[in-house]
Amino acid sequence: MAGSEIWARRERKLTSILEQAREQVAVRGIGLDEQQLLRVLELPDDDVPELLQLAHEVRLEYCGVEVEVEGIISVKTGGCPEDCHFCSQSGVFDSPVRSVWLNIPELVQAAKETAATGASEFCIVAAVRGPDIKLMNQIKFAIDRIRSEVDINIACSLGMLTQHQVNQLRDWGVHRYNHNLETARSFFAEVVTTHTYEERLETCHMVREAGMELCCGALIGMGETLAQRAELATQLAALDPHEVPMNFLNPRPGTPLENQGIMAGRDALRAIAAFRLAMPRTVLRYAGGRELTLGDLGTREGLLGGINAVIVGNYLTTLGRPATADLDLLVELNMPIRELQKTL
Ligand code: SF4
Repeated sequence: MAGSEIWARRERKLTSILEQAREQVAVRGIGLDEQQLLRVLELPDDDVPELLQLAHEVRLEYCGVEVEVEGIISVKTGGCPEDCHFCSQSGVFDSPVRSVWLNIPELVQAAKETAATGASEFCIVAAVRGPDIKLMNQIKFAIDRIRSEVDINIACSLGMLTQHQVNQLRDWGVHRYNHNLETARSFFAEVVTTHTYEERLETCHMVREAGMELCCGALIGMGETLAQRAELATQLAALDPHEVPMNFLNPRPGTPLENQGIMAGRDALRAIAAFRLAMPRTVLRYAGGRELTLGDLGTREGLLGGINAVIVGNYLTTLGRPATADLDLLVELNMPIRELQKTL
């Protein structure tokens, strides 16, 4: 078979995945499986606009036009004993981030500032393997203070939990817990050696079973293959999380991935659309690295290609865009911010 004919066949096969996705996801609301997602991720650049349009239609159909806005704050930054190769907060590497603890008045003030942007979510994050009793006591104190002074939902991200800690957080009023899978099971051991994928999954399952919303994210662009990206989307979909934050690697100095190149914006957009087609009803949130990977133009394309939530302001160790830049963009795109009472 001539090369041009092989290419033409491949083009027909790849194009048909968009037709399949329209019928299966947009019409019937059934997410794509791993093999289908791989075909989406392999679509040529020319098909990306149509792919994004389809992902946007799926988002509008199953999630609506509203965008969920969240602020995050770190109560303990850096000095983590784990060795996640992408993370500048690991104390194992020679990275410039050093352990810092935030005090409670600063935390309450940050929650107030987040609420003032119109955000419905405020996530308290600590760089730890899992919380000890001292941290849990501080978190309880912080939650009580925020709940008494600020009208906002409280989420937490404190690493791996015991069943007792899951129950405590739920009983204290934490409505959502973040614990990322980060990458595909088949790639995980390449980037983390101090804990296992199964340990991460265990916390995710306990959170779900306790009745809290599960926020479980991805970090794309660490050197995983397209097949592993499809695998990750499928593994996330199997957990049926309420929310999936999508991070794109921002190679941080001093980490083992510092020389990993920044992924191409087109590949990031393909990944966003593929994740939407895997999880039509999930909140899909822009998280870290999107400014670097996508820039302003790509940020807009992603919001019109499957994303329906943003983190405003800064991330844990890197600066984001000013909150007003994102809020202005939502106004321009006619995407209202989801109000607090609708998420309670
Ligand atoms: S990703 Fe989390 S667990 Fe891993 S090193 Fe960073 S803070 Fe620690």
